[in-house]
Amino acid sequence: DVESVKGKTYRITTDTTFAPFEYRDSNGDLVGIDMDLIRAIAEEEGFNVQIESLGFNAAMVATESGNSDMTIAGASITDERKQTYDFSDPYFDSGVLMAVPESSDITGYQDLKGKKVVVKTGTEGETFAKSIQDQYGFDIVSVDQTSTMVQMLQAGQADAMFDDYPIIAYGIAQGNGMKSVTQKEAGNSYGAVVAKGKNQDLLQAFNEGLAKLKADGRYDQIMEKYLGDNA
Ligand code: GLN
Repeated sequence: DVESVKGKTYRITTDTTFAPFEYRDSNGDLVGIDMDLIRAIAEEEGFNVQIESLGFNAAMVATESGNSDMTIAGASITDERKQTYDFSDPYFDSGVLMAVPESSDITGYQDLKGKKVVVKTGTEGETFAKSIQDQYGFDIVSVDQTSTMVQMLQAGQADAMFDDYPIIAYGIAQGNGMKSVTQKEAGNSYGAVVAKGKNQDLLQAFNEGLAKLKADGRYDQIMEKYLGDNA
């Protein structure tokens, strides 16, 4: 056990509308895979959490600047981020996927010429879109929330969006009017995030708690609760 975290309250920041990892249910409660994981780990390891849903980029900035102790927001473990942050052990393998409206004629990246693509600021989806932008000749608009991306596609204000595949798949299954027409891109795994060199005991407690949840089946239960057959 990590004794130094016991009884402490940590500030945790997260994304806003990143279902099924974090989102508000019909009661307005913050739920999702990340929320269940951090709450179960905190209970297991004997610390308290005060969770704020700020949006992905704002959550990461808050942790970097010390206004938050940890971000858990489906944050991908990348080499670039490792210069500024320390990551927990990986807890989910992800990858970026494109979504377009159900009625769209777009069948692949080759149809994006002259189109408007919406992405979320500071994410792997944004990085990926930028990496193929010149090759396929589209415009990029960056916004702060997944819900905004979806609304823009629904309203005809954008032609395609890039987000992590479990988020795209969940939205489609919920009937958001989107479809996916490409394969997901190979991506990085998610980890909980602290500022580089800071909150190392919290990170250690997170890893220890995660290992316990994986060993006793609670991790699988959480995944199944939110991902169903896709877990
Ligand atoms: N996994 C992606 C990233 O880390 C997106 C995270 C998110 O939008 N919450 O960039």
